[in-house]
Amino acid sequence: MDYKKHITIVEDWPQKGIRFKDITTLMQNGPAYKKAIMELTEYAKKQQADVIVGPEARGFVVGCPIATELELGFVPVRKKGKLPREVIECDYGLEYGKDCLTIHKDSIQPGQRVVITDDLLATGGTIEATTKLVEELGGEVVGLAFLIELAYIDGRKKLEQYDIFSLTTYE
Ligand code: IMP
Repeated sequence: MDYKKHITIVEDWPQKGIRFKDITTLMQNGPAYKKAIMELTEYAKKQQADVIVGPEARGFVVGCPIATELELGFVPVRKKGKLPREVIECDYGLEYGKDCLTIHKDSIQPGQRVVITDDLLATGGTIEATTKLVEELGGEVVGLAFLIELAYIDGRKKLEQYDIFSLTTYE
């Protein structure tokens, strides 16, 4: 499927110079959203994931349906102050800004095989922080799955020790 035709490019958002890839138009199209989720589900299955992990908020949009398709658990990674129980945290840099991600301390069991999902790979900062959280809990990151990869930013380099799968790439 040509996913690009369902993704809207928004110029200069959220700030000048950024060409934002808006996946809400893909999600609004039932067959396209389903096809995207099924392709990513096949990948997670192939990687023999025990659990799916995704950062808020678009990592949930991608990761939750994959988890339910495979009857696996989904573990949310959230911004600091959002999760109600004991967490571990990791600071990270964004394509535009800085932040801190957290995960519940009891959410991953040592040795579990983890596939991490998000809508888009840009600098890789968000996912790098997520891999650190998973690994600190003893999980093994067996794959990273995205709808979109921005090849011109080259987040892949930062994550070169991991297996990466993306449905569509912007050069
Ligand atoms: P990274 O940490 O630089 O790889 O940025 C990826 C994160 O920023 C993801 O969680 C995305 O949701 C978000 N993001 C960055 N650029 C875009 C974009 O163009 N469209 C949608 N999300 C974006």
